[in-house]
Amino acid sequence: MQLYNSATHTKQEFVPNHPDIVKMYTCGPTVYHFAHIGNLRSYIMEDVLEKYLRYAGYNVKRVMNITDVGHLTSDADTGEDKMLKGAHREHKTVMEIAQYYTDAFFADCEKLNIKRPDVVQPATGCIDEYIKIISKLLDDGYAYLAGGNVYFDTSKLSKYYVFNEHKEEDLAVGVREGVEEDTNKRNKNDFVLWFTKSKFEDQALKWDSPWGVGYPGWHIECSGISMKYLGEDLDIHCGGIDNAFPHHTNEIAQSESFLGHHWCNWWMHVMHLNTADGKMSKSKGEFLTVSLLEEKGYDPLMYRLFCLQSHYRKVLVFSYDNLDNAKVTYEKLIAKIAALDPADKSALDEAAVAALRQEFRGALDNDLATAQAVTVLYNVLKYKTNDATKLAMLAEFDTVLGLGLIDRADKKRAADAEAKKNAATSGGYTVQGEGDESIDELVRARGEAKKAKNFAEADRLRDELKARGIEVTDVPGGAVWKRI
Ligand code: AMP
Ligand code: ZN
Repeated sequence: MQLYNSATHTKQEFVPNHPDIVKMYTCGPTVYHFAHIGNLRSYIMEDVLEKYLRYAGYNVKRVMNITDVGHLTSDADTGEDKMLKGAHREHKTVMEIAQYYTDAFFADCEKLNIKRPDVVQPATGCIDEYIKIISKLLDDGYAYLAGGNVYFDTSKLSKYYVFNEHKEEDLAVGVREGVEEDTNKRNKNDFVLWFTKSKFEDQALKWDSPWGVGYPGWHIECSGISMKYLGEDLDIHCGGIDNAFPHHTNEIAQSESFLGHHWCNWWMHVMHLNTADGKMSKSKGEFLTVSLLEEKGYDPLMYRLFCLQSHYRKVLVFSYDNLDNAKVTYEKLIAKIAALDPADKSALDEAAVAALRQEFRGALDNDLATAQAVTVLYNVLKYKTNDATKLAMLAEFDTVLGLGLIDRADKKRAADAEAKKNAATSGGYTVQGEGDESIDELVRARGEAKKAKNFAEADRLRDELKARGIEVTDVPGGAVWKRI
């Protein structure tokens, strides 16, 4: 599989460090509010990657943190504490806010068919890990104490920027006007590992540490949690593109300085979902959530399809017109699948299976080209083969794409049958039976023949039903049938 690596700026053949396991780490949500559909774009695309690796035969262990402490409104250690902001807004405690929005996040994930990672770890549960790492960084001269906080010293690294090219003079403190600077920092990009001098009077969560009572910085969480569950190396680290700098850059700086060796091989960054007027926001304009889409009548999986129709390394623009197009596509696709015969018991067409699998894998092996993988679903439907094979292929590919294809098609079939039954009822003649549409049709035809006083035809139909082992009883307004 060719997978783009943000750290090397190239597509590379994916080879895990260990043959028996792929170690995958994902930056989890900051649980101070609902996730917006932009956040969820990142998680959908990461979910496809995880599921495709499993489909391709890898054993995957995926770990995700829940950021419930340390994330300030500016990623560079300035601004408000996001969790405190949420607690103030809702007059609740930080832990109540964290629990509520963690549950809301996973409820959204479930609606979007995003698998829960194998390990989900709230950041507040691993304080000892961070203290261990920070202590060693201080001992080894990679960190310093200033004004009561512990900072990572970026000048100790021969290479700090990994994902983007920045000018070295940007490293000097206070070069940009109008930006609040922390004057304790020796270098502009130094970052806080541990806060003891909080500017937040009512900082709710704090722990004892060798440097005083305080709380960890945001970046150290991901290094600590990743190493706790995945050890000293990592195959793939994921996140949205805004995490590349400073968050992931700082994760690499502190992890590799702590370990004394290279840490993570692949960095997968998902480009942003934007609105036509720019960045997606939780506070300005319409707050786009999964629930809002549902209120407006969209199945969340239509949004998943919308995401899969474009490549994860391209910015995606959200508009209701664009989502409507995905909705139409989704409904047509489901209708086509619903028209296949689920009772077809034909043998699997091995040649078709091989050809279709090759196409599907070809798409996803090319840096997760999900739009092409979606096109393969249409190729399955068009393929000259039996329905059993088509349904088996659609179900198999959907273990990766997660579009709920079989489930929604089954539901559509059931809804259509119900509508047909209701239509019969509204025509004044109700057929009640044991759930077999072809028998319902014969019974209805017999009823109509009787109504038209065509008794010969009505008797013929009764005999035909009898020959099939069906007994019909006339009741007011229709007929009831059962198998004898
Ligand atoms: P947060 O809850 O802010 O920590 O973000 C959760 C995830 O969503 C991170 O991986 C972010 O990089 C990602 N993210 C934030 N905004 C967007 C966006 N507009 N589009 C796609 N991903 C985003
Ligand atoms: Zn992270």
